[in-house]
Amino acid sequence: MNDILIIGAGYTGMMAAVGVARRTSAARVTILNPTDRFNERLRQHQAAAGQELGDFRIPDIVEPAGVRFVQGRAARIDAGARRVVLDDDRELAYDTLVYAIGSSTPAVEHAFTIDDPKLAVALRDNPTGTLTVAGAGLTGIEAAAEAAESYPGMRVRLLSRGEPGAMMGSKARAYLRRVLDRLGVEVRTGATVARVRPGAVELDGGEVLASDVTLWTTGVRVAPLAAEAGIAADDTGRIIVDPTLRSVSHPEVYAIGDAAAIRQAYGVLHGTCQSGIPSGAHTAESIVRQLKGKAPKPFRFGYFHQPVSLGRRDAVIQFTNPDDTPSRWYLKGRAAVMYKEAVSSSPVTFYRSRTAIPARMTGRTGGRRNRLS
Ligand SMILES: Cc1cc2nc3c(=O)[nH]c(=O)nc-3n(C[C@H](O)[C@H](O)[C@H](O)COP(=O)(O)OP(=O)(O)OC[C@H]3O[C@@H](n4cnc5c(N)ncnc54)[C@H](O)[C@@H]3O)c2cc1C
Repeated sequence: MNDILIIGAGYTGMMAAVGVARRTSAARVTILNPTDRFNERLRQHQAAAGQELGDFRIPDIVEPAGVRFVQGRAARIDAGARRVVLDDDRELAYDTLVYAIGSSTPAVEHAFTIDDPKLAVALRDNPTGTLTVAGAGLTGIEAAAEAAESYPGMRVRLLSRGEPGAMMGSKARAYLRRVLDRLGVEVRTGATVARVRPGAVELDGGEVLASDVTLWTTGVRVAPLAAEAGIAADDTGRIIVDPTLRSVSHPEVYAIGDAAAIRQAYGVLHGTCQSGIPSGAHTAESIVRQLKGKAPKPFRFGYFHQPVSLGRRDAVIQFTNPDDTPSRWYLKGRAAVMYKEAVSSSPVTFYRSRTAIPARMTGRTGGRRNRLS
């Protein structure tokens, strides 16, 4: 019996785990995660603004598919012996490892990151204070909008080098700016943060802005488990994979989602669920192919949208070309809210599906529409 071990029960690890278990009984599938609750990362900005998220127990989702759940944190990978050592010294052996530990924003002193549970408490305790959001990528925009809507008495400031939504087309970007203005978010462009101080943010050039709560949203980091194990990784800690998503140095290791450096014809994918979930589904198919003595196929992916929530009552969706450049289509307002909600809820439906979802159903993978990859 083959042991398939998945580290990380986030969006992508869950997809890989149930994908293998639903397709074959020729493998023992184990998924490892520090908590038994599924972390809806897509909704972290909602949690920060004090909203209650769904309570999904990972074992309830994966065990009906035949996946064994182990609660624990991987501390070390012994790639030579093919085993993972947990931080409480337990060990899990594997024949095939799926690396799905996700990513986070590097911590900055005196600032919160979006994953920090203390952020929600800090906002709740400062309903009439000032929140400064450093970085106007999608996380920064969503967090600023959500906080401004939930705490109308709060002063919310969004600091950005460029225009928020710079990756979007002009119409979607203009809509996004109108909604931020309506919500009272003060957008400050051309701003680079030099450092965060207790109760203040200092800009390049010396200007100091008072800030009761500062949220840092820029930068990506993957825990260095792979690199420390001698598995080839890039400078952010992501495993460098071949076209079939296997490590270039250790082919018995697959890497998916935010923890993988996945190259397509137009560049290396940036961490999103829209690419991560297909990478998990594809890996499940590849593992089953290998169990049958067949070679895994290359992974092909093209982006199709940039969905941005702007509080609970507004949103904007920029549809894109496969290389993530904006197409002429976008959605706004109520229709965009419904679209974004459907996108955010769909993963749990996928995992619970009684059948194995083919990778091509999870996004713009393979097929003719994927013109660039
Ligand atoms: C506010 C916000 C909004 C977003 N909105 C969108 C969106 O609209 N569309 C989109 O496509 N993407 C969006 N993203 C990005 C998306 O959330 C990530 O790309 C996605 O979560 C990546 O999935 P993953 O499985 O790779 O990692 P994760 O979902 O982060 O899961 C990683 C899992 O691994 C576990 N883990 C970590 N270390 C260990 C360890 N040592 N041992 C065991 N387990 C470990 C973690 O606890 C976690 O459960 C958003 C992100 C944020 C923060």
